[in-house]
Amino acid sequence: MAGSGTILRGRVIHAPEFGSLREWRDGAVVWDATGVITDAGSARDLLARNLDARIIDVRPWVVIPGLVDTHTHLPQYPAAGIGSGELLPWLERFIFPLEHDFRVEQAERLAPLFFRELALNGITSCAVYAALWEDSCQVCFRHAEASGLRVTMGKMMMDYATYSETAPVRIVEQSLEETDRLCRQWHGRDNGRLRYAVSPRFAVACTEQLMRGAADIANKHGATIQTHLAENGEEGDVVAHRFPDARDYTDVYDRCGLLGPRTILGHAIHLSDREIDRIAESGSSVAHCPTSNFFLRSGLMDLWRLRDAGITVGLGSDVAAGPELNPWRVQRAAIETRNALAVTKPTTPALEPRHVFHLATVGGAQALGRGDETGDFEVGKQADAVVLNLSAVVPPGADVEALNADEVLALCLWRGDARMTKRVFVGGRELGIKD
Ligand SMILES: [Zn+2]
Repeated sequence: MAGSGTILRGRVIHAPEFGSLREWRDGAVVWDATGVITDAGSARDLLARNLDARIIDVRPWVVIPGLVDTHTHLPQYPAAGIGSGELLPWLERFIFPLEHDFRVEQAERLAPLFFRELALNGITSCAVYAALWEDSCQVCFRHAEASGLRVTMGKMMMDYATYSETAPVRIVEQSLEETDRLCRQWHGRDNGRLRYAVSPRFAVACTEQLMRGAADIANKHGATIQTHLAENGEEGDVVAHRFPDARDYTDVYDRCGLLGPRTILGHAIHLSDREIDRIAESGSSVAHCPTSNFFLRSGLMDLWRLRDAGITVGLGSDVAAGPELNPWRVQRAAIETRNALAVTKPTTPALEPRHVFHLATVGGAQALGRGDETGDFEVGKQADAVVLNLSAVVPPGADVEALNADEVLALCLWRGDARMTKRVFVGGRELGIKD
């Protein structure tokens, strides 16, 4: 196709299917003036077919699809890498005070830094929890809009008063009213680049009334739902105690109408076969957050068990339980989780960089309900692309040119971080990530 547009030329690698990579050593991605991909393949062919296009030549650097973080908490970022203990005491001691104080002033300061860090890490789409306050959530959305990223976000909801001394609890009507207002204002903004995620924290901190109301709001607006499920043993005991009529933890959400194809469940570690089948049947997705699971000693999620059941899985940093936004570190921890599981269950299939790279791109996009929009370089999707300079992380003496696509991803995953990120494009528009 001749005509104006943009050609990004470099070493193109993407993973449209789980378990395989596609690569063009001298490749290109072409998009039109609206930022929609019109072609991807070998540079020579594409240059011949797009004579009028603007050329951005980044050879020998690598071009990959924008990465996806399916689970992270903006107000918690200052606590990243700080603290200790397991989930419930960690929340009480380190997180609730932070979220309690996360008002407009804190949001104005932190939100732009947070979104900038996501972009610096090559993340172009994300699902984010904000704090409990409507005003600071407004500020977070304004900065999400300005960031140029694809952001799915929502105000944290929790109303179970006896749960915690320090948790800032809102009454149920107020929480629902604020959520509905924010959802109406922000869901679908900028052609769907911004989306609202109705965000009941987890069953420990929510009443049934709040969770049912949350599901109603999400259904009314077609919004995303995000919550936490079966992250930690003690958490599971509390839920079983609080909801004695439910069959299990998953059933608590199911009965409130919170499961479905627009739902992202964070963690999903400690689940029975029945729960896994039910999650698969409902079409809900799972955000696998392995760095967080190591940090809080929550457990080892059996990724293959979920994948084999047909559940869509993406990866999440879960900052601040996860110590960093670095999506390569999260991919690495997913492999380490599998390797740790294989010690006691040697039949667990291997997990290679190509698998977790797919989860960090296409899997994450699908989990966010953006599978038709981003995740790889298929024609018709948005041009979300990241340019990586491997020389920042290649070990001395190694020859990058000699590495195949699997080895390039392995290098990124075992040694990579934001230093590699050179340029970031969302919908064909370049973000200004460097000073
Ligand atoms: Zn979380």
